[in-house]
Amino acid sequence: MSTETIEFQAEARQLLRLMIHSIYSNKDVFLRELISNSSDALDKLRLAAYQDKDLGADTSDLHIELHPDSEARTLTIRDNGIGMTRDEVVELIGTIAKSGTAELLARLKEADGDSSSERNLIGQFGVGFYSAFMVADRVELTTRKAGSDEGVRWESDGEGSYTIEPAAGLPQGTAVTLHLKASDAEDQLHDYADRNVLRRTVKTYSDFITWPVRMVPEPAPATDEGTDEEPETTPAAPEPETLNSMKALWARAQKDVSEEEYAEFYRHISHDWQEPLETVRLAAEGTFEYQALLFLPQVAPMDLHMRDARRGVQLYVRRVFIMDDCEALVPEYLRFVKGVVDAADLSLNVSREILQQDRQISAIRRRLVRKVLSTIGTLRDEQPEKYATFWAQFGRALKEGLLSDADNRETILGVSSFLSTHGEEPTGLAAYKERMREGQDAIYYMTGDSRTAIESSPHIEAFREKGFEVLLLTDPVDEVWVDTVEGFDGTPLRSIAKGQVDLQTDEEKEQAEQQRTEFGGFCEWMAGVLADDVKEVRLSSRLTTSPAVLVGDEFDMTPTLEKMYRAMGQ
Ligand code: ADP
Ligand code: MG
Repeated sequence: MSTETIEFQAEARQLLRLMIHSIYSNKDVFLRELISNSSDALDKLRLAAYQDKDLGADTSDLHIELHPDSEARTLTIRDNGIGMTRDEVVELIGTIAKSGTAELLARLKEADGDSSSERNLIGQFGVGFYSAFMVADRVELTTRKAGSDEGVRWESDGEGSYTIEPAAGLPQGTAVTLHLKASDAEDQLHDYADRNVLRRTVKTYSDFITWPVRMVPEPAPATDEGTDEEPETTPAAPEPETLNSMKALWARAQKDVSEEEYAEFYRHISHDWQEPLETVRLAAEGTFEYQALLFLPQVAPMDLHMRDARRGVQLYVRRVFIMDDCEALVPEYLRFVKGVVDAADLSLNVSREILQQDRQISAIRRRLVRKVLSTIGTLRDEQPEKYATFWAQFGRALKEGLLSDADNRETILGVSSFLSTHGEEPTGLAAYKERMREGQDAIYYMTGDSRTAIESSPHIEAFREKGFEVLLLTDPVDEVWVDTVEGFDGTPLRSIAKGQVDLQTDEEKEQAEQQRTEFGGFCEWMAGVLADDVKEVRLSSRLTTSPAVLVGDEFDMTPTLEKMYRAMGQ
């Protein structure tokens, strides 16, 4: 096969343009992205070689190498990891085929050139490999997949197209060569052919990478015959210099790890651009030893509420990467949690199926869930602003746990917030209970599409009149959990739109009884007239200004739920 020129997908082109020309203020991060990819490739190779003894890959000295060349103004990042086939290069490098691309572009359009919101959006999405074009006007990638002998060469200027062709004689793994922009040559801080710049950048962004990141030594200068420096001995060939400490962050004492280091590690594993909202560490020693380092992100990924949203926790066994997206470690409703669990006593070739049944893994999972929930609780008590950010981004996902995680239901309720008639801000249930009026025996709520829709509903009048607080539940998931969750902390939850709600004093009750006899005939007549549409007509005490209201039975579907089912075609 000869050289092919392939156009970038329109979407990829658009993203590239945005990225190269405005989005990122910090160019250094391209190196983190490329090193991160190499590190992933080495993880994958180690695992593949472990699982397939016949792979025929060399895993004796897995590492990442940086070759700066200040004369040619290039920087090459090479790894001897898993490599890619031609098809993989086209699929992975030639497109930005991640889930959510279309949505990202739609939102970018909305952002309409506001560069800080654009930066935020792209940050959530992560652009990885393409960040190379921030510093290079031409990028070459050569790669050979482990176990295969067909190499591939890819090249692009990041404008409209790329070329791809077979390449012979490549070492296993991937090399990315950046032809650095001339405009950065004068910039001492951002001259990426400069060894000191590379040392600093790796130390800052990639120190924890568990593979050695080496800088290839400078070619020995042509020897000058005239020197008087020890002419007898030929100097030993200079050793490559390892730039990172390679220490797994989760294995280091918490006090020895800085916030910045956590943040960089978070970016490495999450592919997020921002800092984590909160870092959570836990560890156990003894018969079943493990360490976990978890993060709550600041912003929900675009696919959080899509069908196949992945879970963000990786499994390691004694510092060896085993798998991404480890569903045995986190329940679905905590899919936004990112991080690493390193378990000491698992076999390196555990499968997902085995993990699902492993008692030790379930024990870690239980503890991890409790720890995440208690962290959210602490945020709420001690850092209300962070909590508010968290809740706005992930509250909807967390509330799914009210249905799926009966064991932690009360805790989840306890760290949840809901809109209410009390004020503009969401409130917790404990706070609601403190405000309950004397004699109030239930937490009142109403579900609906929006705050305004609920607040203008006649159901709410009497409650407002009498000063009872009502929770306004507006998420679709609220419709579902309210049917399962009976109450909170001993107080039942009660819908004000269903069944009989008793707001009356004894005196009022007597009066109502009187009215019932008085209007009995009228109600009977009305029920007859409306027989096809309603089950019953009765006098209500809940209205103050509206003349009539339609109510559902205790076990009826609410209008929103009805709508939901109808939308689902049921
Ligand atoms: P991400 O790392 O978030 O998946 P990138 O744009 O950084 O996105 O990389 C896209 C994909 O290209 C990676 O997921 C990986 O499959 C492949 N890839 C990139 N760099 C390498 C590499 N050095 N070795 C092997 N595969 C790579
Ligand atoms: Mg990447």
